[in-house]
Amino acid sequence: PKYVYNFTEGNKDLKDLLGGKGANLAEMTNLGLPVPPGFTITTEACRAYLRDGREPDGLQDEISQHLADLERAMGRRLGDPADPLLVSVRSGAKFSMPGMMETVLNIGLNDESVHGLAKQAGGNERFAWDSYRRLIQMFGKTVLGIDGDLFEHAIDEVKRAKGTTSDLDLDADDMRALVDTFKGIVREQTGKDFPADPREQMNLAIRAVFESWNAPRAVLYRRQERIPADLGTAVNVCAMVFGNCGMDSGTGVAFTRDPSTGQQGVYGDYLQNAQGEDVVAGIRNTMPLQELERIDKRSYDELLRIMEILENHYKDLCDIEFTIERGKLWMLQTRVGKRTPAAAFRIATQLVDQGLIDMNEAVTRVTGDQLAQLMFPRFDASGHTPIAKGMNASPGAAVGKAVFSSERAQELAAAGEDVILVRRETNPDDLGGMIAARGILTSRGGKTSHAAVVARGMGKTCVCGAEQLDVDLENRRFTAPGGVVVNEGDVISIDGSTGAVYLGEVPVVPSAVVEYFEGKGDTSDELVAAVDRILRHADSVRRLAVRANADTPEDAARARRFGAQGIGLCRTEHMFLGERRKLVEDLILASTDEERQAALDALEPLQRRDFIGILEAMDGLPVTIRLIDPPLHEFLPDLTELSVKVALAGEQASEKDRRLLEAVKRLHEQNPMLGLRGVRLGLVIPGLFAMQVRAIAEAAAERKRQGGDPRPEIMIPLVGAVQELEIVREEAERILREVGVDALIGTMIEVPRAALTAGQIAEAAEFFSFGTNDLTQMTWGFSRDDVEASFFSRYLDLGVFGVSPFETLDREGPGRLMRIAVDEGRKTRPDLKLGICGEHGGDPDSVHFCHEIGLDYVSCSPFRVPIARLEAGRAAC
Ligand code: ADP
Ligand code: MG
Ligand code: MG
Repeated sequence: PKYVYNFTEGNKDLKDLLGGKGANLAEMTNLGLPVPPGFTITTEACRAYLRDGREPDGLQDEISQHLADLERAMGRRLGDPADPLLVSVRSGAKFSMPGMMETVLNIGLNDESVHGLAKQAGGNERFAWDSYRRLIQMFGKTVLGIDGDLFEHAIDEVKRAKGTTSDLDLDADDMRALVDTFKGIVREQTGKDFPADPREQMNLAIRAVFESWNAPRAVLYRRQERIPADLGTAVNVCAMVFGNCGMDSGTGVAFTRDPSTGQQGVYGDYLQNAQGEDVVAGIRNTMPLQELERIDKRSYDELLRIMEILENHYKDLCDIEFTIERGKLWMLQTRVGKRTPAAAFRIATQLVDQGLIDMNEAVTRVTGDQLAQLMFPRFDASGHTPIAKGMNASPGAAVGKAVFSSERAQELAAAGEDVILVRRETNPDDLGGMIAARGILTSRGGKTSHAAVVARGMGKTCVCGAEQLDVDLENRRFTAPGGVVVNEGDVISIDGSTGAVYLGEVPVVPSAVVEYFEGKGDTSDELVAAVDRILRHADSVRRLAVRANADTPEDAARARRFGAQGIGLCRTEHMFLGERRKLVEDLILASTDEERQAALDALEPLQRRDFIGILEAMDGLPVTIRLIDPPLHEFLPDLTELSVKVALAGEQASEKDRRLLEAVKRLHEQNPMLGLRGVRLGLVIPGLFAMQVRAIAEAAAERKRQGGDPRPEIMIPLVGAVQELEIVREEAERILREVGVDALIGTMIEVPRAALTAGQIAEAAEFFSFGTNDLTQMTWGFSRDDVEASFFSRYLDLGVFGVSPFETLDREGPGRLMRIAVDEGRKTRPDLKLGICGEHGGDPDSVHFCHEIGLDYVSCSPFRVPIARLEAGRAAC
């Protein structure tokens, strides 16, 4: 294979082979921009080197040829004592890995060629020796692995002796002395002399760049950023240009527009008489790029002209590195630049208005994650220091009084106070408090803990697993590091986007985007207008419909404002909590048919009212109602608590408590998630499902009488065999007939067996909805509630998976089962409706997967509806 490409041979689409830097240097070269000549050694050569532990055959020859070409083009030979060519050896992987791998400048200098360099620069000795000491310093650190502080300390020493803090005050003699000192450091640290041979310098630097791919910090960075480990880096060898040969020279970085707002203009920093790395290292204060206009108008105008060329060519915001050598501008790097979420939306629409891209392209230029960021209120935290840090479980900015129980949270919230619910960890009983609170803070549990999952679902701010906090529930207070004690009622602020916890009130700025979705803002705000435009376009191209998971009329109404086209999952279990628990207890304790029927009869009108509200909020749109799903014991008192209560009461224990205790014991399960729940409950407790179906049917009938257009769909959870579904279906159809309304009847696909027998199940189901939370845990065989705390972080560290399968759908596992179910289900029933209602329905990557396998809709929490709309649009563009 060809291992080396001249800059004139590559282009921007060859990033796999030439790395991002090399591909873009080639692109700029071919655009005719002033790039110093050079060549790129491919990532393939790097991979071969890392695999075999030596350079691939032929690489040295190819390098020699390209070096000879470069020397010819420059009219100088590498390290020639009289008139040296110098080069930089620069790493550059496909994905930018800032600061992970290194670059060596000024290769080719030694005790002889340093004089030649001075001569080239018109006798500028300081410049030549400065360049030389930089070479030894960078080479020593990067190639020889010497602690960089040793060199820095030596420089500080010289500055101190001269009584200065600026390296500009160091003269040629100081630089020469530093070269000696640096050579001494190299000898001392490595037992060898600094290599004087230019070609050896180059070869060693190239190998060091190859090897830096596997440096521990690079490995860690890739794992975090989910960059594949086997790509390797390219190496760019580039003729040096010098920003450090006087005040008419310098180096800088620039953006073609403001990366934080998208505003067009001149954004960048410039440093006179300096080499590249000085700008980032912050040794001297840079000046705003605008000032270059005053210093060197010609170069400045040229730079602006080039920035315009680059923007028009890449059709996007670019960032660049440049150097000016005695009034001559050189381009050293460019790439499509990173930007804030707000800037991403603005820039995408600005580029459309400029005619550079079309709306389809604009939709792909932004992401659901960026939109999510824009939907959360933010803190203006300048001047505030966090007292602790936890995990950023659910973004947003929440301020309120710390409270330590669900009851207290509800009390204070009812009295109009803002509260933050602080717990060690939360459980389903905290739900009321979580709903009432502005935010949730826990000291235990990770990003898939109960608190985190529920909070994300509600779009509520949550910081979880703040382990530095000692939460004392009994005394209603917590202690933060440094002995800071926060008592109930003290105001705290939590930042769900960063995980920071603050004492006191940090000012909050609401999200203009959400205000707009809620109908409170308008499109006069440029950002809002951009988001609106992009979402509208996404809606016009997407193939997936977007529904919401909502259990209350309020949530349903909000989801609708956010663009939901129906409800994909209306859970009914919340409808059995609170005061209705007593009715559920009666149902479970019923010993005769009459008692059971009485309990069901009491529940039915309550259920009906719940459904009327939701059907009304979603009038004209489908509402998928799932019949009761969780294990019954969740509605009963806690076993331990009740045992204690009965034991303490002794003879005085009430008859009901005794019977309740028996029932709780009877219903106690080792693995409740695999126990009596879902359709199994429906088949075991006579009348339970029938009551729910009747409540749905009568709610629909009532809505019709009111002139509405109800579209209920009845969904049976946890089906594993078609027989289960057939039994429930028969009864449900009978009830629908009796009441005289229509409703689709379908099932969740969440047990692996259901996916595997989808062809049969589709005979009794008019729709499938993939319950990917259960499907994931049953496919992997681990329980979401348990594994998160015990081994998930370890698994992520070990790379067993790059991201939790509860967050992003695991395509090979549950995803494969979904494909099977889609294929076989549609074979049986071509018009089978297919959707997803697990947490994954609002996850960007998972939405793309659902698009690929041909689902009809995704369903997610109301707050994520716009995100799913956008991602469904991106998937279709
Ligand atoms: P990074 O990827 O860390 O930015 P670079 O390879 O871009 O590393 O180089 C580090 C610094 O050295 C940059 O400021 C760059 O502009 C500068 N630089 C690299 N090559 C040359 C060169 N041939 N002439 C002058 N400066 C250079
Ligand atoms: Mg760079
Ligand atoms: Mg489920």
